[in-house]
Amino acid sequence: MTRRILVTSALPYANGSIHLGHLVEYIQTDIWVSAQKMFGHEVHYVCADDTHGTPVMLRAEQENISPEQLIERVHQEHSLDFNDFGIRFDNYYTTNSPENQELCEKIFNSLTEAGLIAEKEVEQFYDPIKKMFLPDRYVKGTCPKCSASDQYGDSCEVCGTTYSPTELIDPYSTISGAKPDRKTSTHLFFKLSDARCEEFLREFTQNAHRLQPEAANKMKEWLGEAGQSKLSDWDISRDAPYFGFPIPGTNQTKFFYVWLDAPVGYFGSFLNYLANHHSEDKTSLTRDFLKPGGDTELIHFIGKDILYFHALFFPAVLEFSGFRTPTKIYAHGFLTVNGQKMSKSRGTFITARSFLESGLEPEWLRYYYAAKLNASMEDIDLNLTDFMARVNSDLVGKYINIASRAANFLTKNFDGHLSDVSLDEHEILQYFFSRSKNVSDAYEAREYSKAIREIMSLADRANSYIDTQKPWELAKSEPNSKKLQEVCSVAINLFKILTVHLKPALPKVATAVEEFLNIKELQWSDSEKSLPPKHQINAYSHLMGRVDPKLIDKLIALNVQEPVDARSQPAKKDKNKMTDKNTKEAETEGPNEITIDAFNNIDLRIGRILEAEHVEGSDKLVRLQIDLGTEQRQVLAGIKSAYNPEDLKQKLVVVVANLKARKMRFGESQGMVLAASGEDSGIFLISPESGAVPGMRVK
Ligand SMILES: [Zn+2]
Repeated sequence: MTRRILVTSALPYANGSIHLGHLVEYIQTDIWVSAQKMFGHEVHYVCADDTHGTPVMLRAEQENISPEQLIERVHQEHSLDFNDFGIRFDNYYTTNSPENQELCEKIFNSLTEAGLIAEKEVEQFYDPIKKMFLPDRYVKGTCPKCSASDQYGDSCEVCGTTYSPTELIDPYSTISGAKPDRKTSTHLFFKLSDARCEEFLREFTQNAHRLQPEAANKMKEWLGEAGQSKLSDWDISRDAPYFGFPIPGTNQTKFFYVWLDAPVGYFGSFLNYLANHHSEDKTSLTRDFLKPGGDTELIHFIGKDILYFHALFFPAVLEFSGFRTPTKIYAHGFLTVNGQKMSKSRGTFITARSFLESGLEPEWLRYYYAAKLNASMEDIDLNLTDFMARVNSDLVGKYINIASRAANFLTKNFDGHLSDVSLDEHEILQYFFSRSKNVSDAYEAREYSKAIREIMSLADRANSYIDTQKPWELAKSEPNSKKLQEVCSVAINLFKILTVHLKPALPKVATAVEEFLNIKELQWSDSEKSLPPKHQINAYSHLMGRVDPKLIDKLIALNVQEPVDARSQPAKKDKNKMTDKNTKEAETEGPNEITIDAFNNIDLRIGRILEAEHVEGSDKLVRLQIDLGTEQRQVLAGIKSAYNPEDLKQKLVVVVANLKARKMRFGESQGMVLAASGEDSGIFLISPESGAVPGMRVK
């Protein structure tokens, strides 16, 4: 039976570049969609940029352009990145669209009619200079629990306490630096605590294998005991100024919160796709895919950090506004690089663009992700050494190698013609046909790592077949024999089947192979039959090269942003915890100006270097033991290229004394020494005039 499926990937926010962490999801979804299409199912894969909210508004302001100009530029960048990584959306749109606005208004009106919208007074911080209400992430102050300074409005990164921004001591707006006022405003809430929502969500999250088991359990926890729902109503409005859709009937003073319109944007993109590509059957396709009761499927691929929005808010909103609800929600884990969180200072916060610019092939990354991905919510690790090894030894050494080993004899000795006998009954081909279902089942279940293991074990068999048959010897002893032609034809058929198996992960290579083999676009059924007798193939030409380690070095160099020291990134809050706070608000970077308070929060001290030595195994770092007057600190500084450790002893330096200690591969760094550096002109430590002593405060 042909399945009819609408598939989405989460919408990237229009405030930054696509990086390798994002690509885990797009590659995962693209592979799944591609496999389904090869199986012969009807699949529509849509996505869009997520464009609304405070961060986009402020960023556009900073750049002196309109939000529309900003999101248009980002849309072009994102589209290009996706295209270059072979992500084959049927439609890539924007949430700032007329289709989406109409849908949001419809949904809002239906929810109002259903009695599921409530008004409540909310007290919030208000920036009197900027004249706007401040999202939590734009308020900072001193932690009410541990008194750590410069903490965000929703949680303290030092002691981990969560609180509301109004509990902060000495709060200030990170936008203007002003002391915020408290102000009340009427907000609109979706009544998620309503008994109808609770009842629906219990059924929705626990039945029909809609969620992965670990996600379903999480939902159970969030929902609490039956009849005592822990869900609270969801604030869906924001006050002007806000970049988004105005809420009907509020005279442009209230806007839909970005998290309301973002998932609705999946449907907006689908409607736009229908208008452009299916104008004739638009009405029936809209009904089939967006209305309840049909036999179509709606499948969302998301990161585990946004489960709350996709498994609770969104389905409840859809259920009570007359739309269909998701069939499945597939969550994946985060990406780590070399076993650690992606980090700008380590050069492992890798953008999609830099990956391309370094000369690495996108299909290498697609293959590697496929080899690591499974159906769970576990994080996956991009280990760059393993990446190189797997691509070189498996993909190139085992798979590509089969074609190059067999094709030349056919081209030279038989004018590219395959053997004139049918090979369907050949033992090894029979075996390959019989394994095809294992591979398709693994793709279906999102167990790509299992699929790749199966494929590579088949590739091993193909290679040992060639090793046993020794076509290079036959080519010497009987160069025009049926035997040589048959052996090479079998090998080419094995290669074709492996290409079918790998096609969801390697679309570009598959296209090149289709050309080389002189055949039509490969479908899954092609993995269960051989090429016709006497079929003529084209001459083999280079399909894929090996990863050169220099390219990896280049990639890291392109992404290192802070060359001098072990400066730690401001820790992002744990997005995985249950929160209805706007994770989107967290994705912006603050404005470039800081207040004097923010500056005063940096505890700069004079220190004297007591000991200095090379760090074994590191070509950048020097280990410093520094006297700060009242205590000693170990600091790992990236100054090896500029200083001989012997010359550093007794030198006075400026130390950032309240920088959070950071564990590095070579030990802990408990602070940072200040240094000046330019493009290529070296590194210069900052020293005080003589007379300064360790422990003095620098202001
Ligand atoms: Zn604290």
